[in-house]
Amino acid sequence: MTIVGPTDPSRGALRPLGLDEVRLTDGFWAERQRLNASAVLPHATTWMERAGWLDNMRVLASNGPAEGRRGREFSDSEIYKLLEAYSWESARSGDRQADRVLAEWGATLARAQASDGYLNTHFGRPGQAARYSDLPWGHELYCAGHLLQAAVARLRGHGADELVAVARRLADHVCAEFGPAGRNAVCGHPEIETALVELYRATGQERYLAQAKLFVDRRGAGLLPLAPFGREYFCDHVPVRQATAFEGHAVRALYLAAGAVDVAVETGDAELLAAVQRQWQRTASARTYLTGGMGARHEGESFGDDFELPPDGAYAETCASIASVMLAWRLLLATGHARYAELAERTLYNVIAGAVASDGHGFFYVNPLQQRVRGTPPDPDALSPRAATGLRAPWFEVSCCPTNLARLLASLGSYTATADTTSVRIELLTSAELRTTLPGGRRVGLRVDTAYPWRGQVRVRITESDGAPWRVALRVPSWASGATLTVAARSSGAAPGQYAQAERAWRPGDELLLDLPIAPRWTFPDPRLDAVRGTVAVERGPLVYCIESVDVPGAGDLDRVAVATAAPPIDGPASDRDPAVHVRATVGAITAPPPWPYASDRPPGGGGDPASLRMIPFYARANRGPATMRVFLPEDCADE
Ligand SMILES: [Zn+2]
Repeated sequence: MTIVGPTDPSRGALRPLGLDEVRLTDGFWAERQRLNASAVLPHATTWMERAGWLDNMRVLASNGPAEGRRGREFSDSEIYKLLEAYSWESARSGDRQADRVLAEWGATLARAQASDGYLNTHFGRPGQAARYSDLPWGHELYCAGHLLQAAVARLRGHGADELVAVARRLADHVCAEFGPAGRNAVCGHPEIETALVELYRATGQERYLAQAKLFVDRRGAGLLPLAPFGREYFCDHVPVRQATAFEGHAVRALYLAAGAVDVAVETGDAELLAAVQRQWQRTASARTYLTGGMGARHEGESFGDDFELPPDGAYAETCASIASVMLAWRLLLATGHARYAELAERTLYNVIAGAVASDGHGFFYVNPLQQRVRGTPPDPDALSPRAATGLRAPWFEVSCCPTNLARLLASLGSYTATADTTSVRIELLTSAELRTTLPGGRRVGLRVDTAYPWRGQVRVRITESDGAPWRVALRVPSWASGATLTVAARSSGAAPGQYAQAERAWRPGDELLLDLPIAPRWTFPDPRLDAVRGTVAVERGPLVYCIESVDVPGAGDLDRVAVATAAPPIDGPASDRDPAVHVRATVGAITAPPPWPYASDRPPGGGGDPASLRMIPFYARANRGPATMRVFLPEDCADE
């Protein structure tokens, strides 16, 4: 039996390879998976003890009082995301400590659960608000959704246990309470939709799918009150199938879209699937940062209008990026289009890799592309405000992002490769061992070796084959013009934005070599992106680069840096130990601002001292103390 990952559609263009079919062996993502297991999971557990969120559940389990409950109304969801992460980690690596944690928490949750299946530490006890009395803001179904996802992870990785039984009782309770004969209502924060569909996939119980469809169909009917940030904050401004772009609160909108894709796939609803594809395309075209980040506004943690993508004011919450990867992955599986995998890759390398500190003990919640002032180091012993920028914080008062990162990293192997009836596709170009079974019981296997993203060569060696033809496909990113695929000493061009593929009766030891031109390049924003007009960014392979003030000698800030784009950026040795590239630039002297920063004469362009400036990957920012930072650099006018 294959250990299926977080999403397992019953139909669609592609199926994901399971957690036990892909092993990340070494390199960029394998290292982060190990860091997640060795540092992020223990760190998150420690902080949730300190913050009292685990004790909230223990108190409920022992019939304790509501008084003294600590944390926000959604803190139960952090327990569930942590349990999901432990479940995937147990399935991935056989971690026995994770199994002990899961057994202990399964028993605690079983004691905490009400006899009718309800489970939440913030509502329903004497001294607390009644159950479901605050659906707009209470997050009860959001929390429930995360427990369901933890249970799906446990069921797939281990089998039914007490945690799974608790989640099924809760799901049955939700279906009874919110089904066709129950409350005509939805939660202010989507999440349970995608969770219910996955529980249906894992258990075969159709009522979970029916309930998910009901929740998706109820959106846009005005069942929730007008939020301070508009009806779109709750994803309740327009029915999902009529929306034209993702709007409002980014995490809510993206979780709901993921749930809508799941419902569409399982019910064969082509109209609903096409609607989400349209919304995704519009959002990718005009509402997505170069890093893959989504959410332009702090107000309402929301998407902005088309082309409203300020680099300094960006919210780009880590959870929105995780939700974006979840959504893109679902759309890839449903349609087979490489563009979804490409945005997932961009988001992984730039936002998600950077949201975790290199020691696993700090996190970014917001991920702006420009830091105008040096951040102040967070208090190592206190909960940080969520939207603090500049330096990674150990934990937040609203700490949705760290546990979300933990569950994604633990299950990342299942986001690496896909298969259809006759082919295996490598979606995430990273060193890995893959084995799977094609229809007809055909065992196939291959090994991927690469130093990507530092080097552009991706070598695939066949390790298992049955002698009949099958196809190996490797995703070629759209920036990789000039890519080639070599098979049996014959090279051919590989079209960017598509899959380079070869079909043969492979024998073990046969090799394919994908060669991606990975030299650093300039990237120019569309002129409609007003906030970055006249600037340019540097990318190298899938990595977005940035400049930090610690690399600009004598400059107190980066306001007077301008780059010359006549020649391409200069590649460094490019490895994870020294990932720098260099650009030719001028650095102007720091001057006091004028009394009024507007004038009838155009200010002089150019000037300043020529310099070769070091740039580092965006994900590696903020590792050398407080610094200012920017991704988009003004072009030197004197260069024209
Ligand atoms: Zn978050």
